[in-house]
Amino acid sequence: MSLLSVQNLRKDFGGNRAVNDVTFQVEPGELLALIGPNGAGKSTTFNMINGQLKPTAGQVTLKGRSVLGLAPERIARLGVGRTFQITATFASMTVRENVQMALLSHHGRLFSFFTSARRHAPGQADALLDQVGMLDQAGRACSELAYGDLKRVELAMSLAGDPSLLLMDEPTAGMAPAERNALVGLVKQLVQQRSMAVLFTEHSMDVVFAYADRVIVLARGELIAQGTVQAVRADPRVQAVYFGSGRTFETGSGNSDHAL
Ligand code: ADP
Ligand code: MG
Repeated sequence: MSLLSVQNLRKDFGGNRAVNDVTFQVEPGELLALIGPNGAGKSTTFNMINGQLKPTAGQVTLKGRSVLGLAPERIARLGVGRTFQITATFASMTVRENVQMALLSHHGRLFSFFTSARRHAPGQADALLDQVGMLDQAGRACSELAYGDLKRVELAMSLAGDPSLLLMDEPTAGMAPAERNALVGLVKQLVQQRSMAVLFTEHSMDVVFAYADRVIVLARGELIAQGTVQAVRADPRVQAVYFGSGRTFETGSGNSDHAL
């Protein structure tokens, strides 16, 4: 049974069909890239999977169970985590405290005057920080961190919910190519270590082709191709969307970094 199954998913915003009849599966422990030009419907698809948006039509099934109509918090508890494009850390708190806050919330304890985040599960917080390579900076305020390091903290925070599926919408937005590769390389490592599935969007084809186990391509709300990196690269419809027909992807050589 697939971890996640999305069937004939559709979303209309007034007269605009943002997502049209999209069907795909996510298997446990795979790094799956969702790509497509701006406005293709990637974020809308994410929002329907995690319950933030109600689909106009279609079905979303997690481990064989329909999650359609469930609140985002319920879906998160069932194992669907999410990172956001906008940094959501508390700047004045330390790296460790931010992860402790995320653990508090996962453990169902509200942060209050009586519950100090500082005392909550420090060992577990440090274990998560170790997994993202941020343990040595656990005591620093998040406001002092470089952008790439902040993204690692956000990743540790999303791991606090112990997701079986993590949705990452443009996790490398605003990063230089080397930083992008480092972050997605880390995500790939976590996918393998935790047998967690990750569905991510990414504009750099070099990054997608270097790390994704499988790729899904959306264009104007429609799923136009899915498969291995090799299959998707060779697909004429994908090449037509990105480069106009007749061109092929050229990646991996020199400093090429196609931002799509
Ligand atoms: P992507 O993430 O692939 O760039 P989006 O899912 O954000 O694309 O958007 C897909 C389409 O849906 C676009 O035409 C966008 O303008 C439209 N759209 C997205 N969110 C909303 C919304 N909340 N209200 C109305 N239209 C929206
Ligand atoms: Mg988007």
